[in-house]
Amino acid sequence: MNSGLSPEKKRIFVSFLLATSIVVVIFIALIGYISLKGVSEISNILGIIFTLIIALSGVFLLFSTLILVAAMISGKQSRLSMKLRGVVTKLLFPVVLIVAKILKVDKDKIIRSFISVNNELVLDFVKQKGVKKLLILLPHCIQLDNCELKVSSNIMNCKKCGRCDIGDLAKLSEKYNLNIKVATGGTIARRIVKETMPDLIIAVACERDMLSGIQDTYPLPVIGLINERPFGPCINTKVSVAMIEKTLETIRYKEVR
Ligand code: SF4
Repeated sequence: MNSGLSPEKKRIFVSFLLATSIVVVIFIALIGYISLKGVSEISNILGIIFTLIIALSGVFLLFSTLILVAAMISGKQSRLSMKLRGVVTKLLFPVVLIVAKILKVDKDKIIRSFISVNNELVLDFVKQKGVKKLLILLPHCIQLDNCELKVSSNIMNCKKCGRCDIGDLAKLSEKYNLNIKVATGGTIARRIVKETMPDLIIAVACERDMLSGIQDTYPLPVIGLINERPFGPCINTKVSVAMIEKTLETIRYKEVR
């Protein structure tokens, strides 16, 4: 799959990530300097050790960011950048969002940019590694709100009437023998992931649920597809089934399962 990631879309997240790292490093240096004054009063050796710890944290942070930014710009994943993905996902991204809020930049825009960059890196990684155990995770709001069939227990309960995207997803599931689950909430989604332990998750969700999902399931690789919400949030949402199929083709799912 060509992730369709325009340089501009990439630039939003990469610029915020770089700016945030610099702010955090300056902050660490400031805290370090103030605390160092106090620690040096007690012992000079302690002061030196303390300064080294602070300096190493700052260098590690900057080094991690630079490796990740290089991976994001090139779209090529290395073992090291895959490991460092956690630093961004868990540690830096919450700070990126605070910086975005201060600058009054739309939070969803930053999350979408992050998810696009994440998808590109994950795709590169899984293309090299192959996928044996795939899980496709859908939110319950994809199902038509007045359909009474219980697709959350089994997507094959769908009668494929065509009134919502679950029908086409059920057909896709038959075609590729997919493990597709419909989660009625974050807790259920986490439980499904824990029980399945897949080596790749293709998840459909809104921006905020997707972000918390990627953070919660780290280090499992997640390809995130943002749902469309023509009727507003959490009701009769839609997803591009063609995009999911394209992703399966990109990771050559038919060949590796
Ligand atoms: S496609 Fe039809 S039967 Fe299937 S979940 Fe949607 S509304 Fe229900």
